Amino acid sequence: MRRAFSIRTTGRTEIQLVTDQVKDAVREIGIAEGLCVVYTPHTTAAIAINEDADPDVLTDLTKALEKLVPDVRFKHGEGNSDAHFLSTLVGVSVTIPIENANLLLGRWQGIYFLEFDGPRTRTVSVHVVG
Ligand code: ZN
Repeated sequence: MRRAFSIRTTGRTEIQLVTDQVKDAVREIGIAEGLCVVYTPHTTAAIAINEDADPDVLTDLTKALEKLVPDVRFKHGEGNSDAHFLSTLVGVSVTIPIENANLLLGRWQGIYFLEFDGPRTRTVSVHVVG
């Protein structure tokens, strides 16, 4: 079972919380026990789980990810090889267990969409297997 939603990013690098949209999708699908895969079908974006409490964590994460881009002469003509690299590094999906119809997220965990080549309109899909 699958649901999808769109998000609009406004900066080149941006991290957006999508926990509520994912919870809504899981509720609509209505499976009490299973696995939820949150996936984005893009090559310059990523999905991750991280702290949803102190916004400084996301600022620090963005800075650290940008520092990880190696100082190489990229060949790819689009000029966004840094974004392709970060997408590969972080990954385009996460898997979360579902128990009693709820995502088994930790108290401080949130689900994030990571944009590395915005601004763009992006798709996030939520797949549930029960
Ligand atoms: Zn490219």
